[in-house]
Amino acid sequence: MAALPDFSYFLPTEVRFGAGCFNELGACCRALGRKPFLVTGKRSARAIGALDRAVAQVPNAVVYDRAEENPTTGQCDAAARVCRESRCDVVLAIGGGSPMDVAKAVAGLALNDGACAAFIGADLFTEGALPIIAVPTTAGTGSEVTPYSVLVDTAEQQKRTIKGRALFPRVALLDPELTASLPADVTAYTGFDALSQAMEGLVSRKRTAVGDILALEACRLVRQWLPRAVSVPGDLEARGGMLLAAMLSGCVIAQSGTTLVHGMGYYYTLRYGLQHGLANGLLLAPVFRHNAVHLPETVASMASALGHTGPAGEAGSAITRALHALFEACGVSRAARDAGVDEHLLADFARDCYSDPYRFKNQVGELTEDDVLRFYRESWRGV
Ligand code: NAD
Repeated sequence: MAALPDFSYFLPTEVRFGAGCFNELGACCRALGRKPFLVTGKRSARAIGALDRAVAQVPNAVVYDRAEENPTTGQCDAAARVCRESRCDVVLAIGGGSPMDVAKAVAGLALNDGACAAFIGADLFTEGALPIIAVPTTAGTGSEVTPYSVLVDTAEQQKRTIKGRALFPRVALLDPELTASLPADVTAYTGFDALSQAMEGLVSRKRTAVGDILALEACRLVRQWLPRAVSVPGDLEARGGMLLAAMLSGCVIAQSGTTLVHGMGYYYTLRYGLQHGLANGLLLAPVFRHNAVHLPETVASMASALGHTGPAGEAGSAITRALHALFEACGVSRAARDAGVDEHLLADFARDCYSDPYRFKNQVGELTEDDVLRFYRESWRGV
């Protein structure tokens, strides 16, 4: 057997999982601070009653309920001003990846002087961050266990990442009851995000032996539970399975980062507003056929975890068939053209993406701009 690769695996977040565990928010919060800053989105947390239930548990919280989808650095600057002026000492995030990312940036900005955009990069919050409690209401990003805040840089209009150990939430409350209200399409798209993170983690240049185990289990959970969560919204077992998958995928990327799928998907999101998970999902098959050339056994193991049972053969076609079957089971078209993407812009996306070395830093194989364009074209056609 080949020697295990060297790795370091760090995960400081306490994860509490279970239907009803949202009721532990107040006690968790009081253990970490006296005055909470509560970040959430504009609609869903209020609509599902989570905001009222949170405020009942932490009545002195200062509520910031304006987090937008794909939040910007400018929005985080504005939220951080409110947090500092209110002298809050613990940050609560309730919502999908977007509110969680705002909350994490605010937690850092509360203790570090400077504009949010200046902290894009690794470990620039030298004064640490306020403690964070994260309560996901989508099952996809795993942000509740990652050290990242992913934001649109307001000046550059590109998605960028603030990374730092201080941004790992101290506590993550995973309550399947909070995700039961997700509509079918958002359930599917966020599920594709979890899948994408797990798959990318398995082929990242920074993959770890621990992450590999978690990632394969996340793939298996997605295959087992995502179609059911999409078709039977109130099924708490399926919702729990997907929350677990998403959290595991977060544990994976917390160590290994993401790869080219994410780097390419951002263009679909920024130009067309495609939801993050859908944007990634549409690119998985093309990029993983390439990955299969370099890591055939790993990609074949993913295809098996995703339920591919056909004859043992080429890993690229096995993963393609497994992904196509999952999209079909979730009732989502796998062609980017059906999501409104224009074919004539693909060359621009490929050129811009290819010119940014950051998008390739964890990606296996040498790629050309033509390869990237081919991946976009295959994604557009859904092959
Ligand atoms: P999101 O947070 O943008 O939410 C998507 C939609 O779902 C919103 O309209 C929201 O109102 C709605 N919603 C949320 N919870 C709901 C519920 N329970 N019921 C009904 N509707 C609900 O989407 P997301 O996919 O969770 O997050 C995507 C963002 O997360 C992207 O900006 C992405 O870049 C980022 N991200 C961050 C990390 C990280 O580690 N920091 C990892 C992956 C992705």
